[in-house]
Amino acid sequence: MVKRRISILGSTGSIGTQALEVIEKLQDKFEIIALAGGNNTELLQKQAEKFKPKYVCCIKGKIPGFKTINDINEICSDKENDIILVAVSGKTGLRPTLTAIENGIDIALANKETLVMAGDIVMKKAKNSGVNIIPVDSEHCALHQCIKDISKVDKLIITASGGPFLRKTVEDMKNSTIEQALMHPKWKMGKKITIDSATLVNKGLEVIEAHHLFGMDYDDIEVVVHPQSIVHSAIEYKDGSVIAQIGLPSMHIPIQYAISYPERFEGIKSKSFSFSEIARLDFEKPDLNKFLGLKMAYEAGKLGGSATVCFNSANEEAVFAFLRGVIKLYDIYEVISKMMESHNIIQNPSIDEIFEIDNEIRIKTKELF
Ligand code: MG
Repeated sequence: MVKRRISILGSTGSIGTQALEVIEKLQDKFEIIALAGGNNTELLQKQAEKFKPKYVCCIKGKIPGFKTINDINEICSDKENDIILVAVSGKTGLRPTLTAIENGIDIALANKETLVMAGDIVMKKAKNSGVNIIPVDSEHCALHQCIKDISKVDKLIITASGGPFLRKTVEDMKNSTIEQALMHPKWKMGKKITIDSATLVNKGLEVIEAHHLFGMDYDDIEVVVHPQSIVHSAIEYKDGSVIAQIGLPSMHIPIQYAISYPERFEGIKSKSFSFSEIARLDFEKPDLNKFLGLKMAYEAGKLGGSATVCFNSANEEAVFAFLRGVIKLYDIYEVISKMMESHNIIQNPSIDEIFEIDNEIRIKTKELF
């Protein structure tokens, strides 16, 4: 079998390191073209020595013994790639994704901002270039596996674990320490997304992502709280048939799916799935009066245009402020709400306009602290 040639943007992050674990197990299926890491050059060096990419990319300096470049866009113009895993965090993912699409390279997408900030542009370009965008996010990966023909689907049902504050009050959330907010019951992830999961803003971003990926109206995307995180999401067909994707909560599975699609290989399995061991699955409606961020995400999505850019940038700056101890957890909602209220929405913004708006919102958001 011909090896699939892959590059990983963000190889030293949470998704990147797990992707390399998947690839290590599937050594005969993948060839690594490039690894791009952020500030952790020590880890990047170790990864390069182990996986022997053709070249590496780091923000500063060089990785001894390897051809080193400093611009991730260069990787995305390298047509030797069959697929690029975009696992960098934040807006850094947007331009490289567009570059890869322009070069006809498939994308395994683990970066939410790409679609939240510029979903209309990205999906249109991907369609025109015949490029596959395979989602890594467990919920979207689940939806991707369930959907055979989107025109026959009536509703997307996105599951949410509910995060650490599911059984807590608004008061508890208001008094939360950074450590409490970082204790996610089900998934081990980076800090920013873990806070987003505690506020359910993450679920809101996922609703926006799903809207773009699958072209569904916001009214046809439902969020349901499912604390066990076994059902990763579901769809309802027009005839009332519901298809759900289920499995143990491990990011290795969606990562492997996204980089291997449409193939399926034997991968990293801690144990095989057992319904009787799981025993029960619970579902409930999310409390939108407590998790205001989810409600605001729907509102931003429905407003469209630059509203989701504003939502995303305001949230990100607020989360960073929370992690620095500058604001309280619940203030994140207040910050987003204030920024959304004062934002003049631009419909169909260009990529340059999106970055300008992002910048502007971040400056204005920081002025609030
Ligand atoms: Mg997710």
